[in-house]
Parts: sequence; structure tokens; C-alpha cells
Amino acid sequence: YSSYSITMPWFGMDIGGTLCKLVYFEPKDITPDEANSEIETLKNIRKYLTKNKAYGSTGHRDTHLQMNDVHIGGRRGVLHFIRFPTSEMNHFLELAKSKGMATLVTTVCATGGGAFKFEDTFRKEVNMKLEKCDELDCLIRGMLFIEGNYPLECYYWANSTSEDKCTKVQYDFTNPYPFIIVNIGSGVSVLAVYGPNNYKRISGTSLGGGTFLGLCCLLTGCNSFEEAIELATSGDNTKVDKLVRDIYGGNYERFGLPGDLVASRRSVGASYQQNRRNILDDVYIRFSLLFSFGHMNSKEKRESVSREDLARATLVTITNNIGSIARMSAINENINKVVFVGNFLRVNPISMKLLAYAMDYWSKGTQKALFLEHEVSEIR
Ligand code: ADP
Repeated sequence: YSSYSITMPWFGMDIGGTLCKLVYFEPKDITPDEANSEIETLKNIRKYLTKNKAYGSTGHRDTHLQMNDVHIGGRRGVLHFIRFPTSEMNHFLELAKSKGMATLVTTVCATGGGAFKFEDTFRKEVNMKLEKCDELDCLIRGMLFIEGNYPLECYYWANSTSEDKCTKVQYDFTNPYPFIIVNIGSGVSVLAVYGPNNYKRISGTSLGGGTFLGLCCLLTGCNSFEEAIELATSGDNTKVDKLVRDIYGGNYERFGLPGDLVASRRSVGASYQQNRRNILDDVYIRFSLLFSFGHMNSKEKRESVSREDLARATLVTITNNIGSIARMSAINENINKVVFVGNFLRVNPISMKLLAYAMDYWSKGTQKALFLEHEVSEIR
């Protein structure tokens, strides 16, 4: 698809089930002639988009994701990343109209289910033609574009077993093929990628980011993804999930513990027994040696769990399930690189580390969980 044929402003949209992602290309190579002939509306749109970080109460520009000095369609400029809830589409269209968008005849490359759903509305409301692109094609092309243009894009978590030592390490993705890509959005798609134009969808599940957020709102009364993650961060899922030790009565030895894990969780001041229990709980959670929500049939346990515990258990349940599907997919295809993407991983280090650990441990270090900065880089 050639962008030469499209007049400025250049936008791309991914209208997903939960979030709408918008990229805006700000040209930086405008010649004086071009500037003179540029119409006022176009200038205003550029000024508005590049000056603000927040658009209305629900739109956000992720300035930390911005890509400077990129070359697209023969032009040089900056790529800006903006997101807002898909449910706010009407507000977005009103805003676009008020900025004079409807007076420009524009084509916007769009993907995601919303590119179909909102096609007519875009044409009627803001005079925009949606040039629809397949979302799996876009996912792979987008990932490769960013990876090729942003040298620090791909990384993995080293020492994922240790809270203290766990660090992000850059990964050289210059020879990427073959790899598995696990897209965790509202739902989950798993693709095996053999070349830039050679991929297949090999698996998926309806239990994805949408399920986590939906269940979490139901169980805790929270109202946003950020709130759900915050609750989960201070929760304890072992109050909700039944662990193997709850059934076996504490026969820990048969599961063999990695030594560094034992060392990593020793907390000062706690008794030997308590430390041992914390460490083992950790092992059970990471190895999925638990029955998700298994304690919640007991009235007593239900009464003693907190919102935080419920949020954590929901997050661990969804993440472990995705990790398990990812591992099986990688084994079936005999591929050892697994890239996890999608906004479920936004501001969500718990899930990333859980995925990293599960992939690493179960594959005895032969499979690698990879992540991308443009998904999650708000985390330090
Ligand atoms: P889709 O294209 O299906 O909307 P995304 O990759 O954008 O998928 O991921 C959507 C998921 O990301 C949500 O289901 C939720 O788990 C998570 N998420 C992250 N940030 C937000 C947010 N600000 N609002 C809603 N969901 C969010």
C-alpha cells in the first residue's frame, strides 16, 4: 500500500474491541513553498495534535512511545501514538469535526473490527474514507516496522524468578524468523510467522485482556484497567486459588525448587517456615500448580478475601492460561521465540514476568518470551 497517493494529514487507526489506537505522522521536512500553500486547517490539526498530551477526558498521547525521524512514503517526520476507548468514538468524531477535519478530503488507513463497523460513520461525519487493511497483516508489518526503526524495541526479562534481580535485557531481533506472536488484546490470537508475508494463525482464546478487565470489574467493582492492575499489585491470589499444597497437605519436596528462587525470596525477619511457605507459594503460582478460584466455593474463604486478592487471582488466571497456550503453540510449531504484544501488557509487569518465567522454566531455557517497548514502556 503506497502512502504517496494520500494527502496530508496522514493518520493510521487500529479500531479494536476495547481501545482505538491512532498514529499521526507529523512531517518535519516541510519546504517553505509547501508551508505557504498549506491550508490553515491542516496547520491547526498539526498544532493541536502535537501540542497536547490529553484530548478530552479519555484520549491520551503516549509521548514516551513517539518515534522521531522516521521515513515513510518519501517523507521524514515524527510518529505520534494516541489512544482512546473505542466506546468514545462519537466524542472523537465530534472533536475531529470541530478541528475542521470534515473540510479535508482524507483517506485514513484503518484496521481492527472497528474499521468495518465505523466505516459509514467516518464518511458521513468527518468526510474520511477508511482504507481498510487486514489486522493480522498490520500487526506483523507494524511490529517489523517498529523493530526496524527503533533499535531498543525488543527485550526479554532476565532472572524473571527474582524480584530484585529481574531486569530488562535488550534482544537482537535482526534475524527474527521464525517466531510466534501472541497478541493479547480484548481476546488473544497466536500466529506463527515464517517471513514478512508468510504467517498463519495457529491458535487463540476468547479469554484475554477483555476477560480480565470484565471479570475484575465484576468482582471488585473497579472501573478501569489501571485500577484493576493497581489492585492486583497489592493482592494475594493464594487466598483465592487453591494450591496443590492445600490438597496434598504440604508435600513440597517432589516439585524440586530452583536454588536461586529460594535465595531470592528470603525476606529478612520472617521465620524459616514463613520464608519457605512464601517461596513455595511463589513456585506454585508460577508453575500453575494451582486451581484458579478453587477456594471460592467456601463461604468462609469468600468472606475473608479482599478486592486486591480477587484482582490478583483474575490476573494470574488469565495470564497462566495464555502462557500455557503460548507454550503449546511454540512446541507444536517447533519455534523458540515467542513475542507477546497487546495492550493487556500495558503497565502490567506482573503478567510479563509470569509469562517470562513460565516460558523459561517449562522449556528449560530453550523458549524465550520477548516483549516490545511500544507495548509497555511506561514501566521502568
Ligand atoms: P483491542 O484491539 O481488542 O482493543 P488491545 O491490544 O488494545 O486490544 O488491548 C485491550 C486490552 O488492554 C483490554 O482488554 C485491557 O485488558 C487492556 N488495557 C490496557 N490499557 C487499557 C485502558 N486504558 N483501557 C481499557 N483497557 C486497557
